[in-house]
Amino acid sequence: MDQSFYNQLARQSISLETLPRPTVLDILTSRDIELLALLNAAYQVRKEFRGKEVSLHILNNAQNGHCSENCGYCAQARTSRADIEQYPLKSDAEIFAEAKNAHEKGADCYCMVFAGRGPSATRVVHIARLIRQIKEQYPSLEVCVSAGLLDDGKAAMLKEAGLDRLNHNLNTSQRNYPHVCTTHSYEDRLNTLTSARRAQIRLCSGMIVGIGETPRDILEVAYALRELAVESIPVNFYIPIEGNALGPAAGLSPEYCLRILCLFRLLNPKAEIRAAAGRELHLRSLQVMALYAADSLFLDGYLNTKGDDRRRTLQMIQDAGFTISSDHPVEELLGKEEKAREAFPDGSVGQVPMKKLKDLRLFMPSATP
Ligand code: SF4
Repeated sequence: MDQSFYNQLARQSISLETLPRPTVLDILTSRDIELLALLNAAYQVRKEFRGKEVSLHILNNAQNGHCSENCGYCAQARTSRADIEQYPLKSDAEIFAEAKNAHEKGADCYCMVFAGRGPSATRVVHIARLIRQIKEQYPSLEVCVSAGLLDDGKAAMLKEAGLDRLNHNLNTSQRNYPHVCTTHSYEDRLNTLTSARRAQIRLCSGMIVGIGETPRDILEVAYALRELAVESIPVNFYIPIEGNALGPAAGLSPEYCLRILCLFRLLNPKAEIRAAAGRELHLRSLQVMALYAADSLFLDGYLNTKGDDRRRTLQMIQDAGFTISSDHPVEELLGKEEKAREAFPDGSVGQVPMKKLKDLRLFMPSATP
């Protein structure tokens, strides 16, 4: 493809035109579309609507396991044999301490995740109380809740308490949904998003790739999220956990993952696009390039698995010349991380470490006589 193709992609996206389906499908499937030029087109759109900022999100898995649902990709599903540490709902004090930590570590969004099909009325009252108290203490910290299926009444109660965003991922396409979960449906998920929208809560909804979807399924989810005008879109790259019903991740390469992020950016130009769970595992050495299409990352790992440590993520953002949208600038946060390392000295705080004797390559005598 010549440059005019990529320029047109960026132009159409910036002017909020809906890109035609065959072109969008080609983004994932055609080798004639070059990755670097595609990333640059996505970057033009990112810069136009999201600037060079990266927003950081920290997850708090408020309880682990005990879920009645059978989502095949999830280690907390009742059908999973994954050896996770199950624990009941954390205390309010623990949940607050983690909100404080999220704020101090530079997150601009703190997401509380409550596993399960959906919250009872009592649970909603409890979550509403937590939201109120966190917002009172940290008004600039966005609060997001992921609590399963909600109806209009429950969504309205959470909104009333000050909830900024509701996370409820579509996860996969309507076609693929029955292959990954049968205890609730794609329509149930759509209905929850509609209830949240009616309650005027901002939506955080995305997908998991690598769970048996086709390129066309990815495209269908991206169009559905566009139609819902979702404000924040986490693109998760499936992390297979031993014991999960779904088994290994299918069909993801670093290049394909980047193409997916570009597709979401071009179809949802104004949205916050998050290179979410599994970025380290699937993007590997190309991870930093995700920032040219995506403008958001999770800090400190995911629900059941660890991710890159904070320092590495912050350093990646700074090295690539991006900034963070936080009360704390990235330099300050990196400085704090350095200080924390000083408490456990490894001899290299604050600078590129000097090579020690043990790091040097041994002299190899020439094999020739
Ligand atoms: S994704 Fe959510 S609803 Fe599905 S099994 Fe996991 S915790 Fe339960």
